Amino acid sequence: MKRITTVLCLLVAVVVRADDFDVAVVGAGTAGIPAALAAARTGARTVLLERSDSIGGTMTRASVEWPGLFHAWGRQIIAGPGWDLVSNACIRSGFKLPNFKRPYGTSHWKHQIRLKGRVYAALAQIALRQAGVEIRTNNEVVGVFRTEFGWRLAGGGRTVEAKQIVDCTGNASVAALCGALRERDEDNCQPGSFAYVIDPGCDLKALDPEKLNAALDVAIAEGKVLATDCLGRPPYLYLDKRKMSNHIPGADNSTIPLAEKANQLGIESMNRMLAFFRAQPGLEKARVVWKAKETGVRETYRIIGDETVTELDYFAGLRYPGAVAYSFYPIDIHTDAGVVPRQLLPGVVPTVPFGCMLPKGTENVLVAGRAVSSDRAANSALRVQATCMAEGQAAGVAAALAARRSMTPREISVEDICEVLRSLGAIVPSKTGR
Ligand SMILES: Cc1cc2nc3c(=O)[nH]c(=O)nc-3n(C[C@H](O)[C@H](O)[C@H](O)COP(=O)(O)OP(=O)(O)OC[C@H]3O[C@@H](n4cnc5c(N)ncnc54)[C@H](O)[C@@H]3O)c2cc1C
Repeated sequence: MKRITTVLCLLVAVVVRADDFDVAVVGAGTAGIPAALAAARTGARTVLLERSDSIGGTMTRASVEWPGLFHAWGRQIIAGPGWDLVSNACIRSGFKLPNFKRPYGTSHWKHQIRLKGRVYAALAQIALRQAGVEIRTNNEVVGVFRTEFGWRLAGGGRTVEAKQIVDCTGNASVAALCGALRERDEDNCQPGSFAYVIDPGCDLKALDPEKLNAALDVAIAEGKVLATDCLGRPPYLYLDKRKMSNHIPGADNSTIPLAEKANQLGIESMNRMLAFFRAQPGLEKARVVWKAKETGVRETYRIIGDETVTELDYFAGLRYPGAVAYSFYPIDIHTDAGVVPRQLLPGVVPTVPFGCMLPKGTENVLVAGRAVSSDRAANSALRVQATCMAEGQAAGVAAALAARRSMTPREISVEDICEVLRSLGAIVPSKTGR
């Protein structure tokens, strides 16, 4: 049935009149929202296409509500439309911004920003509308055709024509439809995670953490629970209204059927933990009181771009000649056993080159967010939300300039992109020094 609908969408897309835009941003997630804001504020008629029924992507739908890192070594390194939304959402959610002057050493996560996803999404919606962005949810892009002036995008809603596409799907799936080359580590993608909260239904003080720990070890040995279902110890910790820390091996969301499977795996993991808790004396009334809309996915495809960020360059803090943003996060590869971040050395602030957003194999398509061109290790740092936002902003500006000048993004100079980014409040790496 789904296949028939897709074929019908594609047929309709070829024949019907399309709505006309300069820039189509696909994916209203972490990178997509700042990309659309930046494109629209640069003067482009912009449409934002999102396959799910709400905006925000991993931050709101998988409930990864602690974006980072906008600061490094005591100073701000990422700003602009994304930062404005995040900092505003933090305060409006009732939280405080961290003290960025205070160095936390290896506890980098203390500089992540706490916010409520629904507050962020509401603020983003207002900002997008004010900027003149047309938001179309329930609009999965399933087919792309070349036209005389750019691209025709077919999907769930009305057909769209745009001079430039910014792919912010996290998987470069639309860029691939346009001919972009991409790669993935087929056997070794990092696991996802599924967020949920369990209410113990009893006074936690009455429980013995050590007994619970021992019982979990037995449940794992008996195969009733997987070791990946609960990464932190003791499991007691998670009964205090905290989101469960888990890994969901094989989580992939690069197509809707795969995303549905990832969600199913997340629910199964949650049900195993719930059954485990309910089998413990005192916890018979435990229940799930909240769960995320989606399983969060850490890794799928990356494009093969004009430039590829490597672990070596990231770790050395290479100042790319074509740098359009800074990035700051440890190398953070999750395995089924957990994660041991590799911290950047003091003073190091890596940069993001424009070329890592330009996929080989196609033209008039940019990619921002998790899927930029990078090796796996560098990608494990680049994929964090602040960097995704900085990339989105740069790609949005480049697409808008290319549309206005009837050029390809490759023909737009990095100096011009940086100048516009600065005017939007973004921070761009200087040619020399910090
Ligand atoms: C469990 C977990 C924990 C993490 N922890 C942190 C952390 O502590 N701090 C941090 O900063 N980062 C963290 N990250 C990383 C970060 O959240 C993600 O890498 C980042 O949000 C990805 O952003 P994105 O814009 O590339 O993709 P997303 O935010 O996932 O957005 C992609 C959007 O595209 C849509 N889409 C996909 N295909 C189509 C299509 N064909 N048509 C239309 N729409 C489409 C999707 O529905 C989605 O809304 C974590 C990630 C995970 C999974």
